[in-house]
Amino acid sequence: MTDGSASHAAPTVVVVGGGFSGLLTAIHLLDNDRQVIVRLLEKSETFGGGRAYGSANGQHLLNVRASNMSAFPDRPDHFLDWLQARDGTGDGFVRRGVYGEYLQALLRGALGEGGHPGRLLLERDEAVALDLNGTRPSVRLALGRSLTADAVVLATGLGLPAAAPGAACEGIGAPAYFADPWSLDPATAPAGDILLIGSGLTMVDVASQLDRPDRRFTVVSRHGLLPRSHGPAAVAPLPDGPLTTPRETLRSLRAHAAVVGWRSAVDSLRPLTPAIWRGWSLAERRRFLRHGRAWWDVHRHRMAPRIAERMQRLADEGRLSVLAARLESLEPAAEGLVARLRRRGLRSAETRTFAAAVNCTGLSADILGAPLLRDLAGQGRLRPDPLKLGIDVDDAFRVRDTDGAPVAGLYAVGPLVRGARWESVAVPDLRKQTAEIAATLLADLRAERQARRPVTPC
Ligand SMILES: Cc1cc2nc3c(=O)[nH]c(=O)nc-3n(C[C@H](O)[C@H](O)[C@H](O)COP(=O)(O)OP(=O)(O)OC[C@H]3O[C@@H](n4cnc5c(N)ncnc54)[C@H](O)[C@@H]3O)c2cc1C
Repeated sequence: MTDGSASHAAPTVVVVGGGFSGLLTAIHLLDNDRQVIVRLLEKSETFGGGRAYGSANGQHLLNVRASNMSAFPDRPDHFLDWLQARDGTGDGFVRRGVYGEYLQALLRGALGEGGHPGRLLLERDEAVALDLNGTRPSVRLALGRSLTADAVVLATGLGLPAAAPGAACEGIGAPAYFADPWSLDPATAPAGDILLIGSGLTMVDVASQLDRPDRRFTVVSRHGLLPRSHGPAAVAPLPDGPLTTPRETLRSLRAHAAVVGWRSAVDSLRPLTPAIWRGWSLAERRRFLRHGRAWWDVHRHRMAPRIAERMQRLADEGRLSVLAARLESLEPAAEGLVARLRRRGLRSAETRTFAAAVNCTGLSADILGAPLLRDLAGQGRLRPDPLKLGIDVDDAFRVRDTDGAPVAGLYAVGPLVRGARWESVAVPDLRKQTAEIAATLLADLRAERQARRPVTPC
């Protein structure tokens, strides 16, 4: 059954994914066009939460200060004002669930009388396929319906972490192996020695959540680097030096950090990061990912100070140790799992037994794991970006087909387009991106309508 209820006179956009990126793209579309109808599609129970902000766990704090978490690029105090009006909370690192409430409030505002009543339609279903062969794109849903539209935005986020490197199938299938780090129940998760694979903010989430005196954590990652803590950081100007290759950028950044402090130096690059990234050749970007990424990530994606204190306490109590090592194998044992770990620089591996292992390697960019993206790739309407960070898009977020040509009416936003922008994960970047993509999409729709308008003889 096709749902063609929306009149073709009013353009319709289907936004697939109701997390931050999908919701804000929808809001910008509605705010900037008085006619457009947006169908926001979400497969989970909650619109406006996504993986990041649906958390009800009080240990999960934002890793960005509230003063930098406004959803709107042109209203920097929007989130702070909302917090203040809610319960008088000021700037700081608030719970992620509170940010989820903020997004819910934005959603209610868009649906209500003061927003765009009747023009934002919420659909609880999963998009599983997209037909782009007809006059208008048609999105097929898991429950059997199809939605036709004038344009479709993919805002599906990234997938669950990829299988931990080195873990054998039997290890991955074992009950003591947790593939989804956000599904752990701290009350029922095993006690004892726990292996955390990956040392970024996902690991920090898991260690905070599972922290109990009867648990000890061994963290393993290639470089063994932990995210740094937030701290005072004055706004600094851009570095003076050249930024045209990763090596030069690192040199300029180091010199700048010596003057303004490393936090301010790293933050100073933020507004320019997409341009710097685009300015590097593919080989340079690849080099950065191989040699600079781990270093960049720990300085750029920082922990809230309270969380950093907790990690320090765990280390001081001897309950958290971090190894720069490779997981060579992970196999089920009588009780738990046996891991072979090879420390950086050593030839031989050590064998250790853990009560449980949690995959904290971060969200997966394997776009072919999701049915909708796999379907599009199978039709030749989408391809991974050359660095396999997500989907290949042009500078205006139009999805590229297997020949590299933009697909009419198909856009992607959010972490999916990291290959084009690099900084495409945190709210300060996504708020700009969602406004940008809405403006491009509306301009494309208007141009297309103009082109279709019959020419009247004078
Ligand atoms: C744990 C965590 C904590 C973070 N903390 C911060 C922070 O403190 N500050 C900050 O600035 N950034 C943070 N981020 C980063 C950032 O804000 C998120 O990555 C951002 O929420 C991405 O939003 P998104 O909508 O693109 O993707 P997601 O949040 O992943 O949302 C995608 C949505 O699409 C839905 N979906 C997927 N496929 C389909 C389909 N086929 N049909 C229908 N629905 C579908 C999913 O159910 C999901 O709700 C965090 C990220 C994570 C993962």
